[in-house]
Amino acid sequence: METTFTVATHSQEELIDMTYEVRDIVRNSGIKDGFCIVYIPHATAGIILNESADPNIKTDFLRALDKAIPLHSNYLHDRIDNNAAAHIKSAIIGASATIPVKDGNLELGTWQAIMLCEFDGPRSSRRVIVQVHKD
Ligand code: ZN
Repeated sequence: METTFTVATHSQEELIDMTYEVRDIVRNSGIKDGFCIVYIPHATAGIILNESADPNIKTDFLRALDKAIPLHSNYLHDRIDNNAAAHIKSAIIGASATIPVKDGNLELGTWQAIMLCEFDGPRSSRRVIVQVHKD
């Protein structure tokens, strides 16, 4: 079962909690046991599973990434559309997460949230694809 929804982003770099939307899709799928794939078909965004309760984690995460991959460096791709850092971050973070489903619920840890990582925003529409599969 596949469902797509869109997320609007409002900053150049931003983490957006999508746990509620994904949990809803899993519950509505009627699938009790299996797994859920959350995938984003974009080359300058990513998906992570991490803490959303303390918003400082989001800031710390983006700051740490910026240290490793500065926004501007001598990137060749910046001559094309000036977003090489966003592509590199997206490639390192990855475009998907797989989460086990048990008794109709996502088996997330207490402090795990499903978050979209925007690295080249703001964008009016980031597509998120969610598939729920039976065991
Ligand atoms: Zn580009």
